[in-house]
Amino acid sequence: MTTIENLIIGAGPAGLAVAGRMRHRSIPFEIIEQAETVGSTWRGHYDRLHLHTVKQLSALPHLPFPEDYPLYVPRAKVVEYLTNYAKHFDIKPHLNTAVTKISKDRENWIVQTNRDKTFQTKNVILATGVNRIPNVPTWEGQENFKGTITHSRDYKNPTSFIGKKTLVIGFGNTGAEVAFDLSESDVDTTVVIRTPVSIVPRDLNGRPVQLTARKLAKLPFGLGDWLGTKIRRVFMGDLSKYGIPLSNVSPTKQLMETGKTPVIDIGTVEAIKQGKIKIIRTVDAFYENGIIANGEKMPFDAILLATGYRPALDSFIQNIETSLDKYNCPKAAVGTGEFQHLYFVGFDNYKTGGILGTIGDDSATIVNAIQKDV
Ligand SMILES: Cc1cc2nc3c(=O)[nH]c(=O)nc-3n(C[C@H](O)[C@H](O)[C@H](O)COP(=O)(O)OP(=O)(O)OC[C@H]3O[C@@H](n4cnc5c(N)ncnc54)[C@H](O)[C@@H]3O)c2cc1C
Repeated sequence: MTTIENLIIGAGPAGLAVAGRMRHRSIPFEIIEQAETVGSTWRGHYDRLHLHTVKQLSALPHLPFPEDYPLYVPRAKVVEYLTNYAKHFDIKPHLNTAVTKISKDRENWIVQTNRDKTFQTKNVILATGVNRIPNVPTWEGQENFKGTITHSRDYKNPTSFIGKKTLVIGFGNTGAEVAFDLSESDVDTTVVIRTPVSIVPRDLNGRPVQLTARKLAKLPFGLGDWLGTKIRRVFMGDLSKYGIPLSNVSPTKQLMETGKTPVIDIGTVEAIKQGKIKIIRTVDAFYENGIIANGEKMPFDAILLATGYRPALDSFIQNIETSLDKYNCPKAAVGTGEFQHLYFVGFDNYKTGGILGTIGDDSATIVNAIQKDV
């Protein structure tokens, strides 16, 4: 058993941010990562992905993105940045080491791993991500379907979908972008949009909407909210005639109330308007050659599930359910009661400005709390 003060779990942006801040303040720590590299989630994302948030609001603490990186950093450069971040702050995770159980032993937390290594530590910083386990829903008759079913976690690019009639299930940011990616390669693409969505363009008149949203957030809530909805209506137009059901709730309100990020549009809406992406509203069941919606059989060769993820913290922390909100994310960055000295970073979806920006803020809250508690 190794006895330490601070253990960070996960070497994605959130874990690295806390490690960077700790190194900056000379606070000792160890860090565990189940993958064989840092930033493994970003290594695995689909090829065309760029940050939707501007680089100046997406960098980790104490190290901005390099000046020559574009405003919206491409996936490969995010990976390069995270790798350099770890080098810069001399962050050396125990790689290929997955946490399997976290339990309390009097004053300390005992962290067990899948390797021959157990830690006894005062503080545990959980940075395992909201996107830990893919949500994979099932439908009646699915076992008879002869085509392929892939979760977006395994989607890289359109190559294996070319020539296949493809249905993308889910219209969050990933579903919208993946459908656009497929349509750009002339894949016959349909997307399922079940509930009304909030969509905003990434840029308006050359200015990132994220920056406008931050300005609106400083106005009294009602006014900023009203303006945000107006701007969306003027610039997106009436999308209902194209089959896109638009939410009446403003993007900011939706984010604050449900933690659901609005869809940041980089071309999907135009592809729908041009008929390159078709829309259906439901999937009720599968049959051997496709899906059944409202009693109608619709043939498809490939299904892409853009159905999201869950953090699944309950898989290694007993009773944690009591500290989670209805979306299974911790209610606060700093644990209390029986979860005192557990800290959670990267789980707060409710603020405008992107999770990376929130990771920057929450990592400061956590490191301040740990330093105060010495
Ligand atoms: C497609 C996509 C695009 C996004 N784009 C943006 C954007 O433009 N701007 C923005 O602000 N946010 C964006 N986000 C949201 C968020 O910034 C990213 O998901 C980011 O990677 C979150 O960092 P994280 O460290 O919390 O989680 P992750 O990057 O998922 O890192 C978690 C790490 O924990 C490790 N881990 C998990 N379980 C264990 C375990 N049991 N033991 C040990 N290690 C474990 C994982 O291997 C992983 O390396 C995007 C998310 C997705 C999915």
